[in-house]
Amino acid sequence: MRTLIISDIHGNLEALQSVLGSTDGIDSVVCLGDIVGYGPSPNECVETVKNLEPAACLAGNHDLGATATIDISLFSSAAARALVWTRSVLKPENLAYLETLKPTGMWEGAALAHGSPRDPVWEYLESPQQAAASLELIQSDACFVGHTHVPRVFEQGEEPETPRVRAFAPAHEDAVPLSDGTRRILNPGSVGQPRDGDPRAAYAVVDDSEGVSTFLRVSYAFDVTQRKIIEAGLPSSLASRLSVGM
Ligand code: ZN
Repeated sequence: MRTLIISDIHGNLEALQSVLGSTDGIDSVVCLGDIVGYGPSPNECVETVKNLEPAACLAGNHDLGATATIDISLFSSAAARALVWTRSVLKPENLAYLETLKPTGMWEGAALAHGSPRDPVWEYLESPQQAAASLELIQSDACFVGHTHVPRVFEQGEEPETPRVRAFAPAHEDAVPLSDGTRRILNPGSVGQPRDGDPRAAYAVVDDSEGVSTFLRVSYAFDVTQRKIIEAGLPSSLASRLSVGM
């Protein structure tokens, strides 16, 4: 079975369609949250994800901001402006779908969290120390997170007494083993707003017959998304960052 792992779509339909168009032979989909926020196509993105009938789909902090589960004042000003706009355009049925989502989940024995197992809504899991703290809280050998918009793998060493965790940035087409007994936290990066200096949409594909997660990138027409951001009256910084992947 091949499963597409996507996160942080952020209302970017062009990026989402490029990812879906580049992945043949996908049997299931896991979405790690933030379907909306920042981007100009929240309804289309919620409808696309919903129609994929994901095996698991999490709520991200922006989804929870859109449903008013968390307060908009907790977001940066550009993010907050985009959330006010997102709330004003979301169709009731799409808002209702977002309201069904939670920031943590399980899929095929793997733990899922939008931010981290320690703080699923807000933590940016960036350091090996943070990863070690979260690995202590879960039983699973594999855990998938999103939220930082940066593809990353954290893996724990073998020593049971002083387990060291190392971090690395997977490149396009890097395949990371999942069932070799090493515990890992994997972040596929962001579909709709990459922040590692590479503007291409980021995602991962898990192939359970090979026992690997492959990290992938695909280019998309970000100029179309940028035009829609400006036309919607959203902050221009949300458009310009897409060209540089920041
Ligand atoms: Zn996000």
